[in-house]
Amino acid sequence: MTQSIQARSLNVLWEAQKEGLKASYNPVFPEVTNDYIKSCHVVPGTFCRVYKTLYDSVAAVHYGASKVVQATCFVFGKIDQGLNNILPYRFLKQRVFVVYNYVLPINPINGQRQFNLFSRNAEKFLGDNIFYPINSYRLLESSAISLTSGKNYSSITADVTEKLNASVNSEILNPNGQTPFNYRTKLAHSHQINAFACPGGGMVVYDGLIKELEREFVLKNQGSKAITSSTVTLLDGSQETIDLSDVRLEDVTAALIGHEMTHAASRHSMVVITANLITKVLYSAFKYLAIGYMKANDQEYQSLLKAPKSDKSAITQLKKKEEHYEKMHESSDWVFSKGLDLLSLFRSRQNEFEADITGMYLAANAGFNLKGAIYLQEFFEKEAGRDWYPDFFLTHPTSARRKQALLAAYDTLNKQPKAADSRSA
Ligand SMILES: [Zn+2]
Repeated sequence: MTQSIQARSLNVLWEAQKEGLKASYNPVFPEVTNDYIKSCHVVPGTFCRVYKTLYDSVAAVHYGASKVVQATCFVFGKIDQGLNNILPYRFLKQRVFVVYNYVLPINPINGQRQFNLFSRNAEKFLGDNIFYPINSYRLLESSAISLTSGKNYSSITADVTEKLNASVNSEILNPNGQTPFNYRTKLAHSHQINAFACPGGGMVVYDGLIKELEREFVLKNQGSKAITSSTVTLLDGSQETIDLSDVRLEDVTAALIGHEMTHAASRHSMVVITANLITKVLYSAFKYLAIGYMKANDQEYQSLLKAPKSDKSAITQLKKKEEHYEKMHESSDWVFSKGLDLLSLFRSRQNEFEADITGMYLAANAGFNLKGAIYLQEFFEKEAGRDWYPDFFLTHPTSARRKQALLAAYDTLNKQPKAADSRSA
């Protein structure tokens, strides 16, 4: 019984993820029109055009690679179904699947398998060893007190974290039978408007962010120019306005901490490390093979190799050839590293969308107002001012795009029965 309730709520999340990505998806960067390039004073037009072409190519590679992984998983699934009633297969599977589930675990936030060479155990150990010094020595605990409630801000973040850790979210945060992560928040003293998550569940929120957020709510009570609604421009150019007057500080904090929790729960950093590792190994193998093949077919190079050591001019020529091949290595390394940087920007933005939407879902399950997540983006947009740069330069998508995704996810999550409601049904 409990199982079906949990499964149902995860399906709702996956649906919301899909709708969110669809609503914010832009295939060829509408910002970078020819008019945009012409009017671009900050970055030269040619650079922009080259960057865009490069970016589009990398995006296509990323898309292709993810389709290959999906198709492979699909084929494996079908073979598995077909063979499942053969006893020796089932016996073998029990053993092989330990490895399979280890290297290709299911990411609970989207239900898809992902490459991850690190066990949850190793990840938790690593994460704790990053979080511990940050927590103990580097960042001072905030003792700031809320202007409106008189409570310590740290008690607000601790309370929100505890609520998000509720059992209704456990299928995402700590899937059954797997090493549990320890989700805890430290409120640190800093003027920065920021928060981050370590692997394994350690999270840091800067009190500057909570203070600025609360200032927005104080403005609202004074009737000043505060955030009371959000207008989202959809991909077709139409606009939708959503009322935010019933959002509380706790709802926004829950969306923020839920976002960071998702980065840890879906193991984003380890998946990126694994992907980079595999890509680098494959690239190096390909590069050495390709350049080795060129050397083997370079007759001049081969005959220079056989020349006697006394032949001075042959030695000089050979040295030049070696330098030429060395340059080839260097320049292909340069192109590769730039491509990898672009690829990680692309992946990073996708992770941000996933964290936004899952954060909204976790907060909603814990009884917070879903609109806290939209409020948070509205707040970031107000803080940062208007985005003047297109989002392909950024690790994070622009707030405008994040609002598009969140609005679609909000509609999906809102029309579905909440986990708490379906539990009583
Ligand atoms: Zn993030």
